[in-house]
Amino acid sequence: MDTLATSQEHSGPAHVVVVGGGVAGLVAARRLALHGARVTLLEASSRLGGQVHTVEVADHWIDVGAESLHGIAPVLALVDEIGLSERLVTARPGSASIWSGGHLRRLPAGVGPAGPTRLVPMLGSRVLSARGLARAALEPLIPRGPERDDVGVGAYISRRFGHEVTDRLVDPVLGGLHAGDVTRLSMRATVPQLAHLATGHRSILLAHRARGAGSPPSFLSFTTGLSTLVDQLLDGTDVVARRGHPVQAIRPVADGYHVDGPSGPPLHADAVVVALPASAAARVLTPMARQTADELDQVTTATVATVVAVYDRRDTDGVAALRSTGLLVPSSSGRLLKAATFLSAKWAHLDHPHHFFVRLSAGRARSEMITELDDAELARRLGDDLADATGLRSRPVEVEVARWPHALPQLEVGHVARLDAIRGQLSGHPGVVLAGAAYDGLGLAACIRSGEAAADQVSTALAPVGVR
Ligand SMILES: Cc1cc2nc3c(=O)[nH]c(=O)nc-3n(C[C@H](O)[C@H](O)[C@H](O)COP(=O)(O)OP(=O)(O)OC[C@H]3O[C@@H](n4cnc5c(N)ncnc54)[C@H](O)[C@@H]3O)c2cc1C
Repeated sequence: MDTLATSQEHSGPAHVVVVGGGVAGLVAARRLALHGARVTLLEASSRLGGQVHTVEVADHWIDVGAESLHGIAPVLALVDEIGLSERLVTARPGSASIWSGGHLRRLPAGVGPAGPTRLVPMLGSRVLSARGLARAALEPLIPRGPERDDVGVGAYISRRFGHEVTDRLVDPVLGGLHAGDVTRLSMRATVPQLAHLATGHRSILLAHRARGAGSPPSFLSFTTGLSTLVDQLLDGTDVVARRGHPVQAIRPVADGYHVDGPSGPPLHADAVVVALPASAAARVLTPMARQTADELDQVTTATVATVVAVYDRRDTDGVAALRSTGLLVPSSSGRLLKAATFLSAKWAHLDHPHHFFVRLSAGRARSEMITELDDAELARRLGDDLADATGLRSRPVEVEVARWPHALPQLEVGHVARLDAIRGQLSGHPGVVLAGAAYDGLGLAACIRSGEAAADQVSTALAPVGVR
């Protein structure tokens, strides 16, 4: 491995401070340490993992933050590198339902966050009306729209497939994942694969047909939950991780940067990876880059919550609706419930003879509804929505509520251009690099890529000061 060298009077390997101990920060710290840097990771809270958090519920390890890994190349490579491949478990095949117009309808095959890829499965699903289906079927005939730099996913999908596809499919799938408004979410930032198809092809359906169906990536986890990944990321490295250390400011000094903590002298760094939510990054960067901080403050967020509800298996066994992997609820429903994952149907290790585990999700951008409810009321209201959707009338025997204030960044139209501007402004400080969901996309796969890219950028920036 290359060894990064320090600047000026400090001898030995370069010292890089990583601020933020979520997945992006942990991945960056690991990679930098493997590149030969001396790494200190500073995390404000008492635990590492950020939005990955596994807790014990009814003697099982359950994730109350991120719930599954996407089985795609960067994820699989990292899991392999840290020796966890053998411990991966794959979600059972099966699809979720859409709860629309009072009915549960199977999510048609081939529909993902970027919308439909095939017409035929939509024909039989009854999620769309006959009129909506007829409009969707016209997609190959719709001329390519005016070329624009970025566009809302909802606007693009509606123009190509009609409003029903946006409202009944893309809203619950993509809008649900982001807890966001699909008319505002940026196509380039949230579904770059669709943006790519849109620029290179006239028809999305024809482009998918030409490529062939391909199997969708599987959803993965560990029987001990996703904290298993977090716990392993720094293993075998010399990264010094300090918890309970909220960074206040990053300031440029003659030979690098000073990182101010809550107390005591600042930490000297040759480079800093800022792996924080955008508003926290804005605060710490204000002393050195006011304009950048103002731009970062423009990234809005959604507050979300998850409720893990444990039901008596005798109450759930006869409920047919609970045999799918879960359900998604369009925002137009006005329901508090945004999605439910039937954990005991989805994961073999949670298929317990006496308990049925369900994970209920709530919270949408620009809605304060969940913050106005206390934990008991939130759990009760979500349980009521679940009952209305599935017919499950009994009450859970145990619930665990987790709140995620301002957790999900809203990557809205213009996000990629804003990020380009922010990174352009920061180019005057090549040792300061951003990483994480607020910049490079929501989800663990995107955060892994972002953390790795940040580490590589720092390695490159430090190379001229004395690479061996
Ligand atoms: C409920 C929920 C469900 C999700 N489900 C999935 C899923 O199933 N699959 C998936 O791929 N993704 C999922 N996601 C998204 C995914 O978890 C996130 O995109 C990802 O974990 C974000 O990682 P990050 O490192 O960018 O940020 P974070 O995880 O937010 O980490 C940032 C860290 O910075 C720390 N921090 C903040 N301020 C300071 C400071 N001043 N000084 C030091 N440290 C500070 C925070 O405490 C935190 O630990 C989900 C998210 C949520 C909330």
